[in-house]
Amino acid sequence: MKTVYLDNNATTQVAKEVLESMLPYFSEYYGNPSSMHTFGGQVAQKIRVAREQVAALIGASPDEIIFTSCGTESDNAAIRSALAIRPDKKHIITSRVEHPAIRALCAHLATQGYRITELPVDKNGLLDLENLDKSLTPDTAIVSLMWGNNETGVIFPVEEAAAMAHEKGVLFHTDAVQSTGKIPIYLKNNAIDMLSISGHKLHAPKGIGVLYIRKGTKFSPFLIGGHQERERRGGTENTPSIVGLGKACELAAKNMDKENKEVKRLCDKLERELLKRIPQSRVNGDTANRLPNTTNISFEFVEGEAILLLMNEHGICASSGSACTSGSLQPSHVLRAMGVPFTMAHGSIRFSLSIYNTEAEIDFVIEKMPPIIERLRSMSPYWNTSQQTCKSQ
Ligand code: PLP
Repeated sequence: MKTVYLDNNATTQVAKEVLESMLPYFSEYYGNPSSMHTFGGQVAQKIRVAREQVAALIGASPDEIIFTSCGTESDNAAIRSALAIRPDKKHIITSRVEHPAIRALCAHLATQGYRITELPVDKNGLLDLENLDKSLTPDTAIVSLMWGNNETGVIFPVEEAAAMAHEKGVLFHTDAVQSTGKIPIYLKNNAIDMLSISGHKLHAPKGIGVLYIRKGTKFSPFLIGGHQERERRGGTENTPSIVGLGKACELAAKNMDKENKEVKRLCDKLERELLKRIPQSRVNGDTANRLPNTTNISFEFVEGEAILLLMNEHGICASSGSACTSGSLQPSHVLRAMGVPFTMAHGSIRFSLSIYNTEAEIDFVIEKMPPIIERLRSMSPYWNTSQQTCKSQ
């Protein structure tokens, strides 16, 4: 059975060119980039190239890029650095819809005496920047807001938010794990101090990330060890993955415009056709301010996890907006923050596309989804009751 992979916000396929660029760095050029000899020096040179490739994708300078092990490490390093360099400040501002890499860290920091403000979102998942303005205090150490949401794709106005934070002398970090390579990012034109990237969301391998740190921003390292990354991140560099991430960034910079138009066209077609063919379905999240590859659709009166199981029978991979915790299905914190009604939140599916999806795959999903939902609804007491109520009205 062929797999139709529509779960690219979870992780992506490593691009062929990326894999090819990495292979020599396992077997041929395996030197330690910190070594004095030429054998290590040529690896250090390749890391310099990768740093330039990453910087070029996001409009930064190479010396503003540090390589980390993943998006989670970058997020943690950014927040912890802000707190370490301003130990007198005990307040962090973030949002209710952040990834656990920020949210769980903040929940942990709350147990250590920090005060956390989680900004609310509206029913479309959008932020009201007035709330940010009102929440900034002289005690605020850092604002961390994600650029693109992993569940709904909704884009936050992080450049405006960064300017607002700066006006009050507060550091600004953004988790750009989902938006890097999907929408243009040009850091020379804004006030963002730190930004997180994860390789495996843009066709590079898992286990490699980036933290951008604006020149002049004070930074306290999270991993203390050797002198790597100019003392900002200890640990021998993951050379093959760094090379791969550099290549992935180069490809994204070259192809973003063309490829994302096509990804958006397929994503829009999928969304449009599913909404048309499946009654009582709706999109979660603002469709105007959204990543080009993501649509989150709720099918009322069915369970997301049951939908995923039936999709899986056809080889279709996606994610649901509910997770089974201690025996009960909990709608995601993102959908809860948006106030999505219970019967809708439970039946939500996130479809996230990539450049490797084809029209034929999307047509296949459009054909398979309506009978899946119909079959589940025919077994749902809630659906049957709601239909009888409709008929008798
Ligand atoms: N931030 C966002 C928005 C994400 O979607 C993810 C991964 O899903 C992460 C952070 C964590 O990245 P990593 O898996 O590289 O730790």
